[in-house]
Amino acid sequence: MSTLVFLEHHGGAIQKGSLGVLARALAVGGDVAGVVVGHGVAEVAASAGAFGVATVYTVDGPDFEAPLPQPRVDALEAVAAASGAENILFAASVLSADIAAGLAARLDAGLNWDVTDIAIDGGKLTARRPALGDTVLVTVGWTSTPRIALVRSGSFEPVETGGTAAVHDVAVTPREFSTAARMVDQAHEEASGPSIEDADVIVAGGRGLGTPEGFRLAEELAAALGGAVAATRAVVDAGWYPYSTQVGQTGKSVSPKLYIALGISGAIQHKVGMQSSGTIVAINKDANAPIFDFADFGVVGDLNAVAPKLADLVRARKG
Ligand SMILES: Cc1cc2nc3c(=O)[nH]c(=O)nc-3n(C[C@H](O)[C@H](O)[C@H](O)COP(=O)(O)OP(=O)(O)OC[C@H]3O[C@@H](n4cnc5c(N)ncnc54)[C@H](O)[C@@H]3O)c2cc1C
Repeated sequence: MSTLVFLEHHGGAIQKGSLGVLARALAVGGDVAGVVVGHGVAEVAASAGAFGVATVYTVDGPDFEAPLPQPRVDALEAVAAASGAENILFAASVLSADIAAGLAARLDAGLNWDVTDIAIDGGKLTARRPALGDTVLVTVGWTSTPRIALVRSGSFEPVETGGTAAVHDVAVTPREFSTAARMVDQAHEEASGPSIEDADVIVAGGRGLGTPEGFRLAEELAAALGGAVAATRAVVDAGWYPYSTQVGQTGKSVSPKLYIALGISGAIQHKVGMQSSGTIVAINKDANAPIFDFADFGVVGDLNAVAPKLADLVRARKG
């Protein structure tokens, strides 16, 4: 069984999510190769060797410099043909979701998304994914090859093994329509601390924080724990916190080791984005809030009193 893992990179570094999917693919077995697409990416591609992959394909050239999906569909189509890959795996991100969907359409291939695990069953790839609003986990498969999967962010951790990768360049001329879109500007948000996709600890705030200024409580607790701050849609829609921090059905899916929810009711649309977190702690003044139905630990109380004390305790324990 041969598997390609799309290695998304930004700023010269392969994304943690892609390296996690690579680690899982290598653990599952078969011939696994990485794919790096961009301009001047030989070094980035070679860096994947430290994560145990022996072969990395590159598609390298100015047409692939901007992180746009359509030229990458052409690139992956060519690498899939050159390598004869049966499986093509992506770690979910805004970019890779577009590429995976475009590639599935191009190759007339099946795409399973929101995958949380993969395995081999009878020589074929199978996957696990949540269904029915994350209330059950189901096993899914594909009826044809290549099998394309988009893996939920945070499902797997990268495993650094050491080693080197042989880099094979595949020459690709993108189709005319694939280069019709041009990136005119790219902005990076200034951020300190880990992103919510990478953080082991997330402190999430909801409408219970009361005002935009209330997020200071979430930020202080996150800083004490070395974590990141996330938010519900209700508060990002209200302009209290950036959209990039929204967790849920129309936001990001996260799986930190610890998720602390401050003043969050636990609506199903929020739950689907965070319920695979290791330990969920909820602080809510309403004992009947739905979040207590799926939290591991709950504090019924006013977050204005509880959150600062919790931050003090964490700091004292660390000190
Ligand atoms: C199509 C669709 C997609 C959606 N996508 C998303 C999504 O991606 N992510 C998302 O989050 N939502 C999403 N929503 C919205 C979702 O349905 C909820 O409205 C939203 O999650 C509620 O946010 P909240 O918990 O911050 O606010 P609320 O539901 O208003 O809850 C606030 C909570 O704070 C508690 N509280 C108040 N004051 C205090 C206090 N002082 N101390 C402690 N607790 C306090 C209250 O008891 C309450 O439980 C979506 C909705 C739709 C229809």
